[in-house]
Formats: sequence, C-alpha cells, structure tokens
Amino acid sequence: AKGAAMVTAVAYRLTEQARQIQQTLAEFRLSKSQLLEVKKRMRVEIERGLKKETHHEATVKMLPTFVRSTPDGSENGDFLALDLGGTNFRVLLVRIRSGKRRTVEMHNKIYAIPTEVMQGTGEELFDHIVHCISDFLDYMGMKSARLPLGFTFSFPCLQTSLDAGTLVTWTKGFKATDCEGEDVVELLREAIKRKEEFELDVVAIVNDTVGTMMTCAYEEPNCEVGLIAGTGSNACYMEELKNIEIVPGTEGRMCVNMEWGAFGDNGCLDDIRTVYDQAVDENSLNEGKQRYEKMCSGMYLGEIVRQILIDLTKRGFLFRGQISETLKTRGIFETKFLSQIESDRLALLQVRAILQQLGLDSTCDDSIIVKEVCGTVSRRAAQICGAGMAAVVDKIRENRGLDHLEVTVGVDGTLYKLHPHFSRIFQKTVKDLAPKCDVTFLLSEDGSGKGAALITAVGCRQRQLDAQ
Ligand code: BGC
Ligand code: MG
Repeated sequence: AKGAAMVTAVAYRLTEQARQIQQTLAEFRLSKSQLLEVKKRMRVEIERGLKKETHHEATVKMLPTFVRSTPDGSENGDFLALDLGGTNFRVLLVRIRSGKRRTVEMHNKIYAIPTEVMQGTGEELFDHIVHCISDFLDYMGMKSARLPLGFTFSFPCLQTSLDAGTLVTWTKGFKATDCEGEDVVELLREAIKRKEEFELDVVAIVNDTVGTMMTCAYEEPNCEVGLIAGTGSNACYMEELKNIEIVPGTEGRMCVNMEWGAFGDNGCLDDIRTVYDQAVDENSLNEGKQRYEKMCSGMYLGEIVRQILIDLTKRGFLFRGQISETLKTRGIFETKFLSQIESDRLALLQVRAILQQLGLDSTCDDSIIVKEVCGTVSRRAAQICGAGMAAVVDKIRENRGLDHLEVTVGVDGTLYKLHPHFSRIFQKTVKDLAPKCDVTFLLSEDGSGKGAALITAVGCRQRQLDAQ
C-alpha cells in the first residue's frame, strides 16, 4: 500500500509539474483577439510616426528613405555595395546590365566584425570597414575605379536625402561610440579619406528592408513591401508622399523605413510582455529599446528561451534543478540551434545531442520540455510579426481606397529562411488578420547587396537628370 501511495505521489508531482510548465507557457500563447489588438496598436503607432505633430515622440519612426520608385529595368553599371548590420559584414561588386537580357552579376567577400569593434569607438569601426573595402578592391583589382557605392546600413537612420542619414540609435549587437546623432555617410567618407588609398562615390545609404524590397521588385513589380526577420526585425513599404508629413511634397510615393522594432517602447505592448521578455531586455545592450524586436527576432528568441529554461530549472522542473554555466551564458541559443531543435525531422535523441553540444545534460523528459519551450516562443514571434505585417498591408489597401489588395512582400533574414515553422505561422497570421489582402511572399536573394546597387543606380540616374 505504501508503494502505491508513492506512485500516486510521483504521478501527482508530475502532473502538477506539467500543469505549472503549461501555465508558464500559456502567457506566450496569444489569442486571435490579442493578435488583432497588436495589429490595431501597430496601426496607431504607424499614424503617429507619419504625422508631423507626433513624429518626434513616436516610437515607430516611419523614416523617409528618398527611394521614390521601384526599379524599372533600365538600371545599368558597376557598383560597390556594403552590407553592415546583419549576421555578417560583406563587400560586394554588383554589375547590372539593362536591355533585353537584364543581368545582375555579383562578387562578394564576407568579413567578420569582432565584438570589440562593434562595441568600440566609431572611428575604429569605420576604419575597420574601410580596411575590408581596401582588401576587397585589391582582391578584385579595382582600386583605381572610383565606383559609385551603396551602403546597406541596417540601423535606424533619419535621412534628409538618398546620401545622408543620421544614426538615430544603434540596435542589435552594435554599440560603437560617437556615431549616434552623426551622419553615417560622412563617417564613411572621412574614414576613406583617412586611409588615402582609394576613392569612392557614396551615392546612397540603404536600410536592408529597402534593399530587400527593391531586389524583389526588380523581378516582381507588385512588390511594394520589404520585411527582414533575421538578427533584427523591421519592415518598409511604399507610402503616399502626402501621408509622410515630415517630407515636403504631395505627389506620388516614397518608401518608408518603419523601424517597427521599436514598437512597444512606449509601453503599449506591456500587457503581453512576460517577465522573461523583461529579463531579456534588462540583459541587453539597449535596455528599454526595441521591445517588439526583442520578442520576435533571431538575436533574442534564444535569449527568451534561455530565461524560461533558467526559471524552470530553478523551480526544479528541468536539468535536475541544476543551473549550469552554459545556461548562464548569454547568446547560446542561436537561430540555427532553435531551428534544429524545432525541426520535426529530428528525433528527441537528436535534440538531446544538440543540447549536449551546447553543454547541457538532458534527460528525455528535459528534451521534450525544451522543444516545447522553443516552439512556443517562436510561434509567438511569428504571430506578432504577422500581426505587424497585417497592419501594414491593410494600411496600403486603405491608402488606395481598395476593398481588396494584391501585394507582394519581399523577405529576407535568417529566422525566416532557416527556421522550420516561422514563415508558415507568419504567413497564416497575416492571412487571418488581414483577410482583405492577398499577400504573396517572395524570398529575396541577396537583397542587401543587389538592392543597394539598384538604389545606387537609380540615384546616379537622378543625379544626371538633376545636373541637366
Ligand atoms: C534595425 C533595422 C533593421 C533591422 C533588420 C533592426 O535592429 O533597427 O534598421 O532593418 O534590424 O536588420
Ligand atoms: Mg542582412
């Protein structure tokens, strides 16, 4: 009888444990009405960013990009492109040929940016960038060419023209000094001068979302939205110029870099943020900022998972109650690990092997829980990101006074491309929350490089017209 009582007690503890775990995860499971609420609030913030009276205090900045049209196929020439702000730093040579057989040929080299450089002084950062360009030009044998350059700089920049942009704030893993409030194009030009080895003509500064949209629009003219779901999260779209009140003019459209990662920085998402989201924020380089991004982008999803695992371990539900050094380490769960753990093709034993690789000793039960935690966190990410996109496409539809809108979204980013479920859940959410829009998603191939070159080409053409 005593044995039976013990069995019952153990079983009871297990179900009680399961109940508590489910209770913890329940906060991440958003209902449709909660998601509709997220969409609605995004829409409110979009309007605040666009309006002159509210722009200065708006969290979703809706930054003008001075990109007035998508490519028309007449773009032509050789361009240099830089891509800073994602997983890697890249320098690219892009050769665009117009005419009957349009072609784009690209050569590129990837360079690491050491953390000390990302978080050192601005001068060191830009000297490092110019050092990499110099290496690339040597490699291509093009040091004397004075090429036009498009700089994909994936951070919020307040632009006053195609080739001027003041860094509003660093995001993601960057925190170099003396750059915020400065014109990034000037910082680059000065660093090129300091080096005294080659000349370049910096024509455009480009957000990665805009490069992505332009790359896709080159193939599919219906593409008027760009999305990045990668290390960071952001979107851009073609807005009516008359609605962008901080830019003069009322005719036609301009692409707006939304900087939606900052959505929620005024507290408007506090009711859905969990204690784990708060912990991730407190542990980050930019506390209080980019709150939406911290709930839905690759750099932070693993951190949310880690915070939950720490808590479940403390409560004795995981890893035999032992918090290992690994679990205390920031950034261990990169997107690629989450993607592996959540892959349905992996047996639990393989999940345990991945955890083992990370230095986490797990039982079979542990691995089941870890997988569920990952799935719950990434599902919420895909859903709230989808809610944001639903607000954008509905805004475009209303701008045009349509009952029904067909539009294409160009997409890039490691989370979107690598994760086994993110893109599907994201797309389904957009469909559910914006039923009057028929949205097609197009993966961009090398958006940051090709897009920057296309924008540079358009910029050069515009300059020639202006000079006439
Ligand atoms: C930046 C955006 C960028 C996004 C995706 C965010 O952290 O603020 O400018 O588009 O990351 O790279
Ligand atoms: Mg990128």
